[in-house]
Amino acid sequence: MLIKLTGGAVYDPASGIDGAKQDIYIQDGRIVNKPVGDFKVDKEYDLNGKVVMSGAIDMHTHIGGGKGNIARTLLPEDHRQDPVHRTDICRSGCGHAMPSTFVTGYRYAEMGYTAGFEPAVLPINARQAHMEMADIPILDKGGYVLMGSDDYLLRMLTAKKDQKAINDYVAFTMQAAKAIGVKVVNPGGISAFKFNQRKLDLDEQNSHYGVTPREILRVLATAVKELGITHPLHVHGCNLGVPGNMNTTLDTIQGIGGLPMHLTHIQFHSYGTEGDFKFSSGAAQIAEAVNLNKNITIDVGQILFGQTVTASGDNMRQHANHKHASPNKWVTMDIECDAGCGVVPFKYKDQNFVNALQWAIGLETFLLVDDPWRIFLTTDHPNGAPFTSYPHLIRLLMDRSFRNDVLATIHPEAQKMTTLASIEREYSLQEIAIMTRAGAARLIGLQDRGALSAGNWADITVYTDNADRQLMFEKPDYVFKDGELVVVDGKVVHTKWGTTHVVKPDFDASVEKDLQKYFDRFLTMKLGNFKISDDEITEDGRGSLTVHPLKGTVA
Ligand SMILES: [Zn+2]
Repeated sequence: MLIKLTGGAVYDPASGIDGAKQDIYIQDGRIVNKPVGDFKVDKEYDLNGKVVMSGAIDMHTHIGGGKGNIARTLLPEDHRQDPVHRTDICRSGCGHAMPSTFVTGYRYAEMGYTAGFEPAVLPINARQAHMEMADIPILDKGGYVLMGSDDYLLRMLTAKKDQKAINDYVAFTMQAAKAIGVKVVNPGGISAFKFNQRKLDLDEQNSHYGVTPREILRVLATAVKELGITHPLHVHGCNLGVPGNMNTTLDTIQGIGGLPMHLTHIQFHSYGTEGDFKFSSGAAQIAEAVNLNKNITIDVGQILFGQTVTASGDNMRQHANHKHASPNKWVTMDIECDAGCGVVPFKYKDQNFVNALQWAIGLETFLLVDDPWRIFLTTDHPNGAPFTSYPHLIRLLMDRSFRNDVLATIHPEAQKMTTLASIEREYSLQEIAIMTRAGAARLIGLQDRGALSAGNWADITVYTDNADRQLMFEKPDYVFKDGELVVVDGKVVHTKWGTTHVVKPDFDASVEKDLQKYFDRFLTMKLGNFKISDDEITEDGRGSLTVHPLKGTVA
């Protein structure tokens, strides 16, 4: 079957196409060149006057893993406000802050997204995370495996094991957990919390292991680079949410010594201590450091006002934040020798000084970082806001007068503490396409997604151009996933299963000898069960597994 998309304005940053009118042909799920000679188009869509982009990719969204189910269990009142009824095509579920798995897939697709990446897959819990993501229809998915507070790695660092041994352990863990990247959360801090430390700065030692966050970041970032993983070490830094943490963030950027590093939800790590409330914006300094250091990429973790729930591996910071829980209930837990977890419901208020300034800090960051290829549009779903608020966020970035109208309504002291009103920049459609498509695919190392040239999978979103960017991005005309039409006029019309993206870095098999002893002695899980097999991902016909090449190798 040959499909033709005719006459749309194509935004394909990967090919440098910025709004040119172009036809797109689809065959067998992929984009193809215009066939030569006589050919018959089986189905044609007239896209004159429409905007065409590839399907959007959320490079950091909490859509799989135990914390999601804790958040769901904790918030029955949130579900009750947003029940989702069964239709002929879609299953029932519930929505808002932490939607059910099926609703997650539908709502992402209905906004034009075709992939989402879970940033905190705990190795010991990876099977559950993948099974949960296997329940999310339409979307492609993948995960970054969480390391850095695991007892095994910290023991290796205490014992001064060499980089090669650490690389083998990282590669083994990535393969066992079926990951495409490596994430570190509050490096060493999740572990330190279990030894009664309540804070851990970049050069502070974990009291049990004598290891600092800086050392953990260095060895993991080196491992990621030496193993040839495209996605840089994905870092949730020290001191999340602490006033003055911008200095730690600046130190983290300098301290990585030029190695590739992605700093996630940087809004939560960009705070100064100026002003009457001893809380100020560090966005300008952070943006300047990002602009100067080309090895650094960031996503923002924008907060937007309203009810949500925060779910994080950062038990240390979640414990500290529990006093702000709204509604007032929360969970902090241990995950045996691996990590921890904290879930705290949260309501961001525009008349709360801190929340209002957090909102402004996120937007300042978006607008002050020059290179859209190195900054990504996230709310750290659900931590800053549910992912369903992306169209509103896009309007804030693209429409200065709308942004300033909202700014004029927030806490007056916060208005005084932000430079937002003076920032003229408005994102272009091409810049949005970079942040949410081409840049994300490049950052994660997806070989044939996020672009519209021949050979790419036909993940395509079609919008009606509208000066109200929120309305435009809320309701695409069409969404194609792997060449199949899944959304029409912002509603799911057909569902399918996406693929799971992974990498498979090499390791010396002898790494398992020590691990075997370690598992037998300390863990409740057997080493054999720890390793997820390929067919576990693909059984039940729920999608496929896509293995991406390592850097320096060919697909
Ligand atoms: Zn996150």
